[in-house]
Amino acid sequence: MKHFDYIIAGGGCAGRSLAVRMLPYLKATNKHILIVDRINKKDNDKTWCFWEKHDDIFESAVYRKWNQLYFSGNLISQKLDISPYNYKMIRSGDFYALTDQKISGDDRVNTIEGNVEILYTENDLAYAVIDGVKFSADYIFSSIPQAQKKEPGIYQYLLQHFQGWVIQTDSEIFSPECATLMDFNTSQDAGTSFIYVLPLAPDSALVEYTVFSGQVLARQEYTAALKQYIREQLNCEHYTIKEEEYGVIPMSDHPVSKQEGRIVYLGTAGGFTKGSTGYTFRFIQKHTTAIVKQLSKSGNPYISSLFSDRFNTYDAILLHLLDSRRLSGKEIFSAMFKKNQAVQILKFLDNETSIIEELKIFSTLHKKEFLLALLSRTLKLMKPVHPFKAQESNRNRQ
Ligand SMILES: Cc1cc2nc3c(=O)[nH]c(=O)nc-3n(C[C@H](O)[C@H](O)[C@H](O)COP(=O)(O)OP(=O)(O)OC[C@H]3O[C@@H](n4cnc5c(N)ncnc54)[C@H](O)[C@@H]3O)c2cc1C
Repeated sequence: MKHFDYIIAGGGCAGRSLAVRMLPYLKATNKHILIVDRINKKDNDKTWCFWEKHDDIFESAVYRKWNQLYFSGNLISQKLDISPYNYKMIRSGDFYALTDQKISGDDRVNTIEGNVEILYTENDLAYAVIDGVKFSADYIFSSIPQAQKKEPGIYQYLLQHFQGWVIQTDSEIFSPECATLMDFNTSQDAGTSFIYVLPLAPDSALVEYTVFSGQVLARQEYTAALKQYIREQLNCEHYTIKEEEYGVIPMSDHPVSKQEGRIVYLGTAGGFTKGSTGYTFRFIQKHTTAIVKQLSKSGNPYISSLFSDRFNTYDAILLHLLDSRRLSGKEIFSAMFKKNQAVQILKFLDNETSIIEELKIFSTLHKKEFLLALLSRTLKLMKPVHPFKAQESNRNRQ
């Protein structure tokens, strides 16, 4: 059986981010890794957007960045200054090319294409069965989705689903320095929905229709919403669709196991998709940075926690409000952006604010609804758990 120091199961955003960050550590310790994915990823299958203050190691893959964001909702339609942040866009095709280039230059990194069938820990080693062949490692990092039994009586399960078009227009209608983060000039019938516009040039932009709801829509409904927005809000009749993006991101407060034995979960599989927004890219970068730091310090990759549990509670409250439709996303985000500095909201959504800063933000929101949602969530969590389930969740925590 072939043994590696580490196996990275899933070579998407999180797996590749970790591999690239591990390169100096592998060199210093002469350790070897195996990266396995069932697809040899090259295509531009998604676009990652995120905000950050300082450039990180994937800066050369950044395709566009903006230092102003436009928000339009209840009682507010305005450009927001976000400095010192930049809102950045990475096309996954560029990210795969950059990470391939970095990884292929190091013979301590082995990559294979294959289907990971099972991951498990036994006798202080981690094992992966890939297309019927068993490999062992000191640790496995996995971004392969974990099977999860839903508990709708306790947790919220929403989906963020979207369709976007990169359009080329006949005339110059976009301001390349300002991206539209949320424009709620859309019907809110299907759930919280908004349009996102990322200008790529004065006559080109990614225009995306996003919905937060329990179920995805029929494809023609996204198309109809996009066409309507482009015609009525962008006042544009003539354009060509150059590229299309469709995606579904889970939005949930269901706890996710971060590690089991010698298997450490990464990315969406590790619960690094923020429940209330779907943003994941920056959380992946923070997590993989912390793993490498921990490996260098102690030789093991276990991270106690990246941020305080209270942020999970905030996400859960927001999801609860959205799910119950007690408040719409349009009302919540409008109040946030109207009554607070955009920079503070970005910091809050990054799970980086202090309690004092959070209290200031909460004081500007719909207090009664938020308190009721907190109460309702607390009561749900206090529901008696079936003894078998209690044993299961204890086992998961160990
Ligand atoms: C269309 C789309 C757009 C998004 N845009 C943003 C955004 O703008 N900003 C943001 O912060 N987040 C965004 N996200 C959310 C999140 O950042 C991405 O989903 C991101 O790719 C998550 O990284 P990951 O490594 O967890 O998963 P992935 O990148 O999906 O990587 C998982 C990998 O595991 C492989 N795999 C799965 N099962 C197996 C198996 N059994 N054997 C072998 N390999 C396997 C897959 O092929 C894949 O390569 C977006 C998501 C989608 C779907």
